[in-house]
Amino acid sequence: MVSAARDVSRSVRVSLLAAAAILLAPPPARAQSPDQIQAAVSAAHDRYKTLTEGKNADYIPALAKVDPNLYGIALVTVDGKVYTAGDITSEVSIQSISKVFTLAKVIEEQGPDAIASTIGVDATGMRFNSIVAVEMAHNLLGGPELNSLVNPGAITTTSMVKGATREEIWKSILDFYGVFAGRTLSVDQEVFKSESETNQRNQAIGMLMYAYGYIKADPQRATDIYTEQCAVSVNARDLAVMAATLANGGKNPVTRKQVMKVENVPRVLAVMATAGLYDDSGKWLYRTGLPGKSGVGGGIIAVSPGKFGIAVISPPLDPAGNSVRAQRAIADISNALGGNPLASKPR
Ligand code: GLN
Repeated sequence: MVSAARDVSRSVRVSLLAAAAILLAPPPARAQSPDQIQAAVSAAHDRYKTLTEGKNADYIPALAKVDPNLYGIALVTVDGKVYTAGDITSEVSIQSISKVFTLAKVIEEQGPDAIASTIGVDATGMRFNSIVAVEMAHNLLGGPELNSLVNPGAITTTSMVKGATREEIWKSILDFYGVFAGRTLSVDQEVFKSESETNQRNQAIGMLMYAYGYIKADPQRATDIYTEQCAVSVNARDLAVMAATLANGGKNPVTRKQVMKVENVPRVLAVMATAGLYDDSGKWLYRTGLPGKSGVGGGIIAVSPGKFGIAVISPPLDPAGNSVRAQRAIADISNALGGNPLASKPR
């Protein structure tokens, strides 16, 4: 009896302590209200609407013709809420943003080491289509010192996607992008044709990667599939849902489908953080802390892990090849919403 009474009083004391701990603990960081998120998105849209810096990519002739005024922002939270401003229905070609999802696909199929040991996961510090970067990595650094988000690494990554025929490989890539976006995506045939006719530099890069033994499949076919993946058509909302899937442990927060393994997501985000905006990746990380990826079609995606994915489309690019408005708008919105994953508060 006595010991039972002691047990009761002990458990009361324990619960009192627990209750006190709850009362005394600082309140959990409050997530922003939907109104605050929408206000941040709308404010950034307004702020950069009149910004006219930058120029459409024109080395792919079809991209020079895209309306430079097209400007749309979408933010998707990990609970699947979608916030938008501006034009979120017009589509552009996904371009280099595709590299993220083909990287994810190869990691899913073959595991993270397949990429790290063949291509590498290091920033080149050079332009996205640099051949010098290949020479440096191969002849001076002596091996896998590239990454899947610059053209040589991206064409190699595409060459690693499994499939018996070109059709089978292509279908599995396009379907994979589609589950990230939550809808069936298609190719902008005009962009695909335009880039296919003018991509001699990428063909040379494919050949070089084959000559150096990184590409083990047919390099011409790899470059051709890579060119087609870059021509997939997307709007700002599609891109934001794709980014939000990466923010949400690989589960599409809108369709609720698990698109990739949760443990593979940080590998993809790590490469985005170090190389997603090419030779300006450091500047971008310094300003935002966000893994991101740009494309010469004018899109940029960024991921705030556990919080949201965001995408902006605006075709005019800066000299590094990154959308001018997209960089500014994403940085403002994320910073306003506490999206920087590198920021912590002292306890
Ligand atoms: N398709 C483009 C190319 O290979 C993609 C480049 C990019 O978006 N940075 O040149």
